[in-house]
Amino acid sequence: MNCEILAVGTELLMGEIVNTDAQMIAQGLNEHGFNVYWQTVVGDNPDRLRAALETAKSRADILITTGGLGPTADDLTKETVAEVFGRPLKMDEVQLARLKERMGPKMTPNNEKQAMLPENCTVLVNDWGTAPGCAFEADGCHVIMLPGPPRECTPMFQLRALPYLEQLCGGVIGSRYVKIFGQGESSVEYLTRPLADSLENVTMAPYAKEGECELRITARAETKEAALALCDPVVEQVKAILGDKVYGVDVSSLEEVVVRGLEARGMTIACAESCTGGLIAKRITDVSGASGVFGYGCVTYWNEAKMGLLGVSPQTIEQHTEVSAQCALEMARGVRRLAGASVGISTTGYAGPTGGTEENPVGTVYIGLSWEGGETVFRPDRRYMRTREQVRRHAASHALDLVRREVLNL
Ligand code: ATP
Ligand code: MG
Repeated sequence: MNCEILAVGTELLMGEIVNTDAQMIAQGLNEHGFNVYWQTVVGDNPDRLRAALETAKSRADILITTGGLGPTADDLTKETVAEVFGRPLKMDEVQLARLKERMGPKMTPNNEKQAMLPENCTVLVNDWGTAPGCAFEADGCHVIMLPGPPRECTPMFQLRALPYLEQLCGGVIGSRYVKIFGQGESSVEYLTRPLADSLENVTMAPYAKEGECELRITARAETKEAALALCDPVVEQVKAILGDKVYGVDVSSLEEVVVRGLEARGMTIACAESCTGGLIAKRITDVSGASGVFGYGCVTYWNEAKMGLLGVSPQTIEQHTEVSAQCALEMARGVRRLAGASVGISTTGYAGPTGGTEENPVGTVYIGLSWEGGETVFRPDRRYMRTREQVRRHAASHALDLVRREVLNL
């Protein structure tokens, strides 16, 4: 079924606020297998709102409106929807009582308007604010009205509108998220396209995310478990195609995989960071329970710190400079020794935009790894690291990924 999101509010049109409701709703609809074909924004003007509703009615199977459910004169959504869809408003006594209870003596007569709802609609009870939402079907179009304030709109959409829509379609959606590092969206798409084309009840879509890629595999079935059971064989096929580029399924991040992996093996990690300036430590400690595996991180930006704190030898820096495989290795060894950790990981490089040398231009990063199983240095492909931000973020990701592949064998 195809959907339209119609956000009502002059402040949206004027650019005073950002249409975050539409973004949230669009993401949710997509995740649940509904196609969003149109997003419209219209001001608090009855004529233009009417015209926008007529258009939506003529083309969408599902119309979701946000905003204009409140008590004030410029809140016109319900009245106008009622008119366009031929569903006159009626006082809903249950909602009125609820409203009175919720508002107490603050309630003024204009507030009562919020309990006026289209006849025979499904009421979407609002536990997060005063104006209830509602849903009904008219002339083959399913209309859902949600309040504008995001703190109300988000739970109303997730907990009221989505279940209503799922029950319309019969069955529920189940999705698996395959997380991929080190392979771009276009090549993931290219490699998995034959598989995607061969699928019948399962859909697969790649999304690029912050230097990573995610494949969403979705199926619809009677129950969530049955839908996931349809997805699982496809997950295995994807893993067979992409190999160790897949770092996890239904996991939130590389750092989570690394922390959980170290934890499971009773290992600890320490990091010595130059160009990433603490990003690796930050990402590891973003994961709850990180203290079980992480106790130590050094940001050694100056050579004096690399030498003094980590024991990098002056000769190494003299002969190879601080941006070198040798220096990265000595940093990793040094921090591992210092922290008494099972794994030491390091970064040293040129984040730019200025600096670098002919041999090691901006974007060059050496990542050192030292652990009981051995040592290695990895130099990520500079072509994907253009801005200072990208260099630093990608370097931190590559460092975490190196631990995942080399140490954890995941
Ligand atoms: P209220 O009862 O608060 O009046 P309402 O359903 O009538 O709610 P609006 O009056 O249209 O909604 O908007 C109320 C506030 O909610 C706006 O000032 C704005 O801050 C926020 N808001 C409305 N629509 C959106 C939207 N699409 N995206 C993000 N925020 C929104
Ligand atoms: Mg309002």
